[in-house]
Amino acid sequence: MHSKNVLRRLWATVAQRSDQLHLQLIPSMQELPDVLGDRLFVMGKPARYKWAILSCPCGCGERIDVCLMPSARPKWELTLRNGRVSLSPSIWVPRERCGSHFWIRQSQIVWCKNYEVSTGI
Ligand SMILES: [Zn+2]
Repeated sequence: MHSKNVLRRLWATVAQRSDQLHLQLIPSMQELPDVLGDRLFVMGKPARYKWAILSCPCGCGERIDVCLMPSARPKWELTLRNGRVSLSPSIWVPRERCGSHFWIRQSQIVWCKNYEVSTGI
């Protein structure tokens, strides 16, 4: 039982990390809430996802809409495995906005090395 507690505590630590995204599938844009939080919203049907939407993980509050439609240029590839999302290529926010540059790997934000995370402090 002890190991179970350790696991639970570990999970709590992981869940509190701000760079962990919580996947939420939505059928349409109308379902998108005003406050996105640390969720990654994926709109559309399986194998035909249209958009991935998240709040910029740097904390600037910028909403990022990632287009997954095959006809779009540029377009991103979404992989959903065991409830975790990966997106390819990396996501880049123009410098005049906040300049964030990161990957989403297994629902985790992976910052590109040449970018220093702004904590806003
Ligand atoms: Zn940002």
